[in-house]
Amino acid sequence: MWVEQKSFDEITTHLRKKYENALNGNVDFESLIKRRRFNIDKFMLKCKCKKQVSAFRLNNGDGLIQGLYCSKCGEPRTSFTTKEGKKPTYSEGNAAIMFSIQNGLLGEDIDSYVFLKVEPVGFYTHPITGKKIEGTYVARRTYDELREYTPDYAHYAEQVLKKAKPVYEAMGWDLLQIKNRKQTLEEWF
Ligand SMILES: [Zn+2]
Repeated sequence: MWVEQKSFDEITTHLRKKYENALNGNVDFESLIKRRRFNIDKFMLKCKCKKQVSAFRLNNGDGLIQGLYCSKCGEPRTSFTTKEGKKPTYSEGNAAIMFSIQNGLLGEDIDSYVFLKVEPVGFYTHPITGKKIEGTYVARRTYDELREYTPDYAHYAEQVLKKAKPVYEAMGWDLLQIKNRKQTLEEWF
């Protein structure tokens, strides 16, 4: 394992540099971007009465948006599940898709998309709760289309810590020293 050959100081210094570079936006833009396949089925919502509705179709005459209930049987929308019967979640890629499709930045006819965590860019409506949610993930077709957004650099810096965490925990090391530099005695004198 790579940690066995290197000391805490070497690894921490290396990761601190990486963390600070990410925080200052001193990173390759394309390295921040994730690509995903788009599967429209993942965005189908199912009521107990078996009525199905697309999470993108809650605004255009389906009737669901008029109240937080199923238009067929009156069941609260909060009990809707995905087609597989799971509670729908809209994190990362799914949040990016919800934001971008609702805001007309993407069509539903895509095979794949790229997404980025960004500084807040607007809002989307949560299809289950009907609440306005601040959009902090954005999805587009190409890398170039994402270049107009400001990445959430603090988030990407935290990813450096998140990745290092299992190793630091296994070694009994202080993870926070990647962020908070403690001066050693040698540096004082
Ligand atoms: Zn129903």
